[in-house]
Amino acid sequence: MHLFTILAFAMLFWRADSPGEWRLLPADDVFWTLLLVVGQPLLLLVAAVSAAKRAHRLHDKHPEAPQIGQRFHHRSLFLLRMGLFVGFAAALLLTPWPEWFEFGRITPALQIIGDLIVLSPFFGGALVLWIAAYPAERALRLLGEPQSYDQSTTDGPGWRIGPYLDFNLRHHLLVVAVPMTLILFVSNMTRGYGAVLRRWSGWVWTPDALLAVVAGGVFVVAPVLLCRIWRTAPLESGPLRERLEIICRRIGLRCRDILIWNSDGIMINAAVMGVFAPVRYVLLSDALLATMSTRQIEAVFGHEAGHVRHRHIQHFLVFALVGWLTVAGLMEGLARTSTGSTAWWGLSSTAIQGLGLAATVLFWGLGFGWVSRRFERQADLFGARCVTPSDAECDRPCSVHLDAQSSYPQDGRVCATAAAVFASALQRVALLNGIPPEERSWRHSSIGSRIRFLVSLAGDPARAMAFERLIRRIKTTLLAAAVLGGAFFVYYWTVAATTR
Ligand SMILES: [Zn+2]
Ligand SMILES: [Zn+2]
Repeated sequence: MHLFTILAFAMLFWRADSPGEWRLLPADDVFWTLLLVVGQPLLLLVAAVSAAKRAHRLHDKHPEAPQIGQRFHHRSLFLLRMGLFVGFAAALLLTPWPEWFEFGRITPALQIIGDLIVLSPFFGGALVLWIAAYPAERALRLLGEPQSYDQSTTDGPGWRIGPYLDFNLRHHLLVVAVPMTLILFVSNMTRGYGAVLRRWSGWVWTPDALLAVVAGGVFVVAPVLLCRIWRTAPLESGPLRERLEIICRRIGLRCRDILIWNSDGIMINAAVMGVFAPVRYVLLSDALLATMSTRQIEAVFGHEAGHVRHRHIQHFLVFALVGWLTVAGLMEGLARTSTGSTAWWGLSSTAIQGLGLAATVLFWGLGFGWVSRRFERQADLFGARCVTPSDAECDRPCSVHLDAQSSYPQDGRVCATAAAVFASALQRVALLNGIPPEERSWRHSSIGSRIRFLVSLAGDPARAMAFERLIRRIKTTLLAAAVLGGAFFVYYWTVAATTR
């Protein structure tokens, strides 16, 4: 859902650059526009209710294989969300819907209200999907209900519709919508006062530079915002906090606080956010803390710490920069070769924009998913290493302890017992969240394959080292591409383009 929300906002930015270019319906066509805008959430409701019913039926029909119903439910939800986004994009581009709310013509500061009204069918559709999915989610999720939780009745504390909607709104919508609204507001202002800013500063890029600085600032302080959008509280001092702080000191992880992520027991999850230590938080959800052993919590904590220590967020930013440079370069190249007497092809600017969009989707869809899955595995490896036990506690043949041979390379060693602890934590996450063990997502490999991979590394230090080498190569390639692409970009816009 995060991705589709980001894309929905991105559509607004994009449309602001080329308003009305794709419109099919005339500006005064109220009937069809409203039908498309209002009809969508209703259509989604019907589709979502029937999908949820089918998931329920599959679940009742195959009590021995709950993953059949779960898989159907997850896939249908993904398709419905995609449908929600495509429908919203159609309303935005093909109808005069956004033109009815151009309040920025009165004063730029008001445009944000218009933008939020324009986005409201998307928000409404998201709400409809959650309400429709609620009965199925409840039925499917109860399968793996934590035993230590007080679940004597089917009406568990966290599973009434109120907290369920509150949770989804905060975690899947507001988390993206609040920072994006801030950036959109500033973008409206720099656009609205663009001429004034340029005249005042005498520099043509002032509005863009200002927007970039604000967007960067929002990104940096976002963790402070997010721990207020979500329900969080500092993890109380006690043996668990002490153990986690010992791990922090040992691995050199600095953060502002370790927080409990309150979800009324709905969510088994952990996360780390913040690029800089003063605004960095590690979050452990309430249900995770309530249902996992200390060792398993440490393993999950170690995984999140791995993302920080291996600088995954920074490398994703570099990835985004490379993606942007690639697409911008492609579009500029196509534009240059489409005009003039020596044109190779006569692409219209709309066609070039479409190709740019397709390239962006391809780059992120394939590239980001691939890199992200590798980074997850590296964090798994780090998490396992964080729970390496003492000699006496390790009871398996492993390259660190019992079976330690001097011929093994030191760097690649992973304790088999630690890998098993980490695998058990992953298994619990899957079971308690109702995720089928073999289900993959865009950013994560399936839990099953992550476990198999980690266990295989524990038995094969050479493979672990080869894996770390691959990650190093990915990072070096990204950095080299960013530096080269950036240098070419600057050269092109300061030297080459001006002599055109
Ligand atoms: Zn992770
Ligand atoms: Zn061991």
